Amino acid sequence: MPGSLELMNAELDRLLPGVIGGRTAEAFEKAFGLQTVRDLLWHLPRRYHERGELTPLAGLPIGEHVTVLAQVLDVRSRQIQRGGSLLEARITDGVGSLRLTFFNQAWRAKELVSGARGIFAGKVSEYRGQLQLQHPDYELFDTADANAISRLGQEKSQQLDEAAAMAFALRPVPIYPATARVPSWVSQRAVELALEAGLDIGELEDPLPKDLRKAVGIIALGPAFEMVHQPEHARDWRIARDSLRFREAFELQLALLDRRRRAAALTGTARPAGEGGLLAMFDAGLPFTLTPEQLDAGDTIARELASAAPMHRLLQGEVGSGKTVVAMRAMLQVAEAPAEHQAPDAMLGGQSALLAPTEVLAAQHFRSITEMLGPALTERLHPVLLTSKMPVAERRKALLAVASGQAHIAVGTHALLSKGVTFYDLGLIVVDEQHRFGVEQRAALRLKGNNPHVLVMTATPIPRTVALTVFGDLETSFIRRVPPGRQGIESFAVPVQERPRWAERAWLRALEEIAAGRQVYVVCPAISGGKREDGDEALGGDQFDRDTSTKETVELASVERTLEELGARSDFRDVRMASLTGAMKPDEKDRVMRAFAAGKIDLLVATTVIEVGVNVPNASMMIVRDAERFGVSQLHQLRGRVGRGEHAGLCLMLTNAAPGTVARERIEAVAATTDGFELAEQDLQLRREGDVLGTAQSGGHSTLKLLRVAEHGELIERARELAADLLERDPELTSAPLLAAQLAEEARQAALANIAKS
Ligand code: ADP
Ligand code: MG
Repeated sequence: MPGSLELMNAELDRLLPGVIGGRTAEAFEKAFGLQTVRDLLWHLPRRYHERGELTPLAGLPIGEHVTVLAQVLDVRSRQIQRGGSLLEARITDGVGSLRLTFFNQAWRAKELVSGARGIFAGKVSEYRGQLQLQHPDYELFDTADANAISRLGQEKSQQLDEAAAMAFALRPVPIYPATARVPSWVSQRAVELALEAGLDIGELEDPLPKDLRKAVGIIALGPAFEMVHQPEHARDWRIARDSLRFREAFELQLALLDRRRRAAALTGTARPAGEGGLLAMFDAGLPFTLTPEQLDAGDTIARELASAAPMHRLLQGEVGSGKTVVAMRAMLQVAEAPAEHQAPDAMLGGQSALLAPTEVLAAQHFRSITEMLGPALTERLHPVLLTSKMPVAERRKALLAVASGQAHIAVGTHALLSKGVTFYDLGLIVVDEQHRFGVEQRAALRLKGNNPHVLVMTATPIPRTVALTVFGDLETSFIRRVPPGRQGIESFAVPVQERPRWAERAWLRALEEIAAGRQVYVVCPAISGGKREDGDEALGGDQFDRDTSTKETVELASVERTLEELGARSDFRDVRMASLTGAMKPDEKDRVMRAFAAGKIDLLVATTVIEVGVNVPNASMMIVRDAERFGVSQLHQLRGRVGRGEHAGLCLMLTNAAPGTVARERIEAVAATTDGFELAEQDLQLRREGDVLGTAQSGGHSTLKLLRVAEHGELIERARELAADLLERDPELTSAPLLAAQLAEEARQAALANIAKS
């Protein structure tokens, strides 16, 4: 037997030539991305079907799942149109008879021979007046046993059959994720064959050390796979699943902690605070004093920048809590840090890149950065905006400034990290408002410079278990309070159907705000009639974050319709209105945003494009239409656009969701608190199913199989603790060589992936 790791990493058709053929292996890869034996074993049943009681063949109910005890009467196989084959068998229990059909499984003729006895389970259907089971699942009694049984005489054999039948009937049938080319039974069969044909699963070495398994109370890996794929009883797969789920959580946390450790061992460039006085100049120019939390986070960052070990930090803070200032101070430190390889007379140090999720936000960041820096610092640091859509000449100029080191701050989207952009000396990458960056992408950032420092900022408060899963490789800082002097935001749910007058009042309120010289956002879930905003621009919330339970029967409130409706009202005649959607060209969007920021537009009707980071302090009110269409964190993000200046913010969430529904509950939760961290936790609980993570985000692994961050928070915490424990006790993992090998393999893969990307 080959070593366990080797075995697990073996490709499917290599390990079992003639058992799992090249074509099947290919189909598995296409359908589910399965390549190795490990992949196959981790290809877990989605659910289990319980067979239940035996049913007599006479009087079978059509459309129901049945289990019957019977004998094969005859079998025939024929070619059918379009090149397939059809195998038909008739079975009888001595009273009634039933047809079994199998498409393209002619090999079954070898076992379904006339006279064979066994148990057959499937869903009863009718074909040309005849009852049949299509692709039933069955188990034949051993012929040797059958002969022995027949020698025992009819009555005795009947009893034994029944006992076997009972055991069969209790055995849950695994149902695998299926595609047209790979139906569930093919997966079942492949695992079965793998287990029969040489994969001695009982002998499978367990990567988890025994004492750890004992402490957690989980079964060994081999039996777990056996029990999850071939359970004898329902309790088998439950036990097995729990065990595999823990493994998943543990291995993920171990991998993340290991990444963190490896990242810490890298050598980058130390960027200690210099003596050029830039930072002091910047601080002196701020129209406010930094909050203690900003200073705290800033100190931590300053300390980490000063070390050659690259920083890898997540800065979490409410919308408007002042993260950007913190990031800018870090960029200033990098800019004035004396870099070793620079000529002593060089005036300035390293460069920073600020990545925004959209071009609109990049442009906005660029403007506010320039503004905050003031003319003197702007001249010295020469910040540039770099987007893919800007005029060629302008872009070339910006590229040159970045490549020559003249520009100390470059603002753009992730395109900043593409091949065509060369930095002279990239010291710090700041990723803003982007919690969709997976571990892999973050690792790729490193390749742009000599292991630059990385600061990830997110304004969507992340529940701890999610943070552990998605950002488990980062250290975290928090800014929990927004700066003092804010007026705060009042939020209300406005049930349109129950309180039509309130809804009307919302529009009148908007007019009052506008009359007072302030500005209003109206947010709609759709761009035009029924068309959803799902473009790339709608980042920030996540795609799992929306309520899909509401039926699509009523047309969604759209940007177009809203503009039409308001345009038709005489009281809105003098209101300057515009729209902003992801369907618009970037420069058009940019033009509208500028006009709104400059106060030339009173009311902006938009989709979630305005969700992230948009900052117009004079905007004091937001109306969200069909608010049930947005997720909790999305609504929270959206309303963060108002109340950013001296005026109190007001957010009215119009909804048609009935009281007592989850959709309504979510809106009310948002109305009830402005604490984003609390909301994030509640949100996690309200999402009763689905997962919070996209595939690209689940740590180092491409997908999570059994782990659901919303449900398994405790398990994740425990796994984190135990993984940290193990690494502390045994940093080289000598006590768990298989885990060590797995981690090394993952590190190797990550490195390869990075090389491919760079
Ligand atoms: P975030 O990026 O966290 O959403 P910003 O950094 O954009 O927040 O800050 C939001 C607004 O608050 C900006 O206008 C900024 O100038 C202002 N601000 C930041 N820090 C403070 C502070 N300590 N006191 C008062 N205003 C602040
Ligand atoms: Mg911001």
